[in-house]
Amino acid sequence: MLVFMGKGLSLTRRRLLTTVVPVGVFLGIRRRAMTTMNTERQTSETTPDARARNQVREIEDVYRSPGLHWVGDGFRVAGYFSAIPDVVRRLSPFLLLDYHAPYVYSPTSGRRGVGVHPHRGFETVTLAWQGSVAHHDSTGGGGVIGPGDVQWMTAASGILHKEYHEERFAREGGTFQMAQLWVNLPRQHKMASPRYQPILADQMGIVNLPDGAGVVRVIAGEYRGVKGPAKTFSEVHLFDARLDAGGKLELPFPARQNVAVLVMNGEVGINEEVTAREGDFVLFKNAGERISIDAHAGSQLLVLGGEPIDEPVVQYGPFVMNTEREIAQAITDFNRGKFGHLED
Ligand code: MN
Repeated sequence: MLVFMGKGLSLTRRRLLTTVVPVGVFLGIRRRAMTTMNTERQTSETTPDARARNQVREIEDVYRSPGLHWVGDGFRVAGYFSAIPDVVRRLSPFLLLDYHAPYVYSPTSGRRGVGVHPHRGFETVTLAWQGSVAHHDSTGGGGVIGPGDVQWMTAASGILHKEYHEERFAREGGTFQMAQLWVNLPRQHKMASPRYQPILADQMGIVNLPDGAGVVRVIAGEYRGVKGPAKTFSEVHLFDARLDAGGKLELPFPARQNVAVLVMNGEVGINEEVTAREGDFVLFKNAGERISIDAHAGSQLLVLGGEPIDEPVVQYGPFVMNTEREIAQAITDFNRGKFGHLED
């Protein structure tokens, strides 16, 4: 939930929203041009594509858990993408991953979370493993998600929303574990109508791995022929995998797709080469297609895979568009109340 404002600058959403945003502020926005990806497909078995399928997809880098920061007073998160060079291109269509490792909150009679704030041009995806989050938005959408559930919110043309610990969870306190992912939208969908997909645990695609190695919950995309329930605007794969000690997981993604794995807990070997531990974020190269993971201990992994969106990205806080002019328009629209209304 960290908000980028260009190189070297970052603010929390709350601080952004209490800051007057004069037009001049965004003149310094860094334009992030994206290089053209080679999406040419070939079919013969002797082609580079065929070789890629048999090739191990090597690790580009392993990022250790970055420092924790608070989003509002309810989310104690590690903002993984802040440490990754050229992250908007390297992990497109993903824009942000904030991981909230298990943390025990004491009971409170107050609210914990983030008050009303806007989004435009992308999607926020909230995954809950422990604890419970309530969400309300200016389109009247909202709801509560608990362990195993996912809320897939398409902000698109713009919404206001607020995110809090669910009232009873806040009152009783307890362990909280969640993640929020931001997924970019292709240009043609950035100004579509907002949409809200509450995806409950029992709707997930379930793949029981061979030899009792563990379970992959398919939230979006497809794994071993099992599709996830989330509707997406570009090809996105999002899996929540639990491996038992000794369990093996094979991940085949086309080389052109961007792929990363967050080790939420446990310890795994990757491609029989690198050991990744709790809190590590593993980014793979765009060459080769075979990733093999073996669990040294019971482990929980979040797997991200996606077709890059080959368009310029200009981000200003909670707005992610293709041009600076569109960012200026988002700020104007927000200030004129065009994102609707929501009581805090
Ligand atoms: Mn938000």
